Amino acid sequence: MPFPGLDRRVADVRERIAERVRIGGHEQQVRIVAVTKTYGPDAVSAAWQCGIADVGENRVQEAVDKMRQVVEPVAWHLIGHLQRNKVRQLSQFRMLHSLDSERLAVAVDHDGRERAAAHDVLVQVNTSGEASKGGFEPAELRDAIPRFTAMQGLTIRGVMTMAPLGASAAVLRATFAGARMARDVLRENGFPAEELSMGMSDDFELAVEEGATMVRLGTILFGARTQ
Ligand SMILES: *Cc1c(COP(=O)(O)O)cnc(C)c1O
Repeated sequence: MPFPGLDRRVADVRERIAERVRIGGHEQQVRIVAVTKTYGPDAVSAAWQCGIADVGENRVQEAVDKMRQVVEPVAWHLIGHLQRNKVRQLSQFRMLHSLDSERLAVAVDHDGRERAAAHDVLVQVNTSGEASKGGFEPAELRDAIPRFTAMQGLTIRGVMTMAPLGASAAVLRATFAGARMARDVLRENGFPAEELSMGMSDDFELAVEEGATMVRLGTILFGARTQ
């Protein structure tokens, strides 16, 4: 058993999620996306054994290599920056969490139309105000909505955000609430934007209180990464 105690950690995380859903009052379902980057295919299989059906990878090539070695029918989520010259690989993923620019949207749309199969995407939003973070500022997102509406090759399923590392609870909460509001703006504009991908090992509890429907968890499940 390559990841001893994983079943216990998953059970503990599920309990903590349920508690935070109750406190937050958003009554959402929360899926755990097990982030297996830097770990081998055995991490994916171990997660599957613990009832996790969604895995996240931040690099296309690493993910594709791993897919070839995994027999379990997990759903693969691409959670890291996607280079435009790799959009053709997207069809192997259940969802792109990190649609972080209009130029990328144009490329994804083009590929989806070519295949006559729209790609499911989350718009990455920068609601922390950190200059170093990728993604759309809320005002940029509003501005892009008419153009997104015209893109038949992608389906916007919600938003994703990343909170600043080591931020205070107040800053985390504001970042997550801002992402929820961005998601709601998309909904009001007619997109089927149900998903809110936010929360990592250090901040998932506040993210769930603020309405996260997907938490992306690596370290807390598999241990510290060495790469
Ligand atoms: C690595 C990564 C995670 C998981 O981070 P942990 O702190 O290990 O839980 C989540 N989201 C993204 C985009 C990542 O790259």
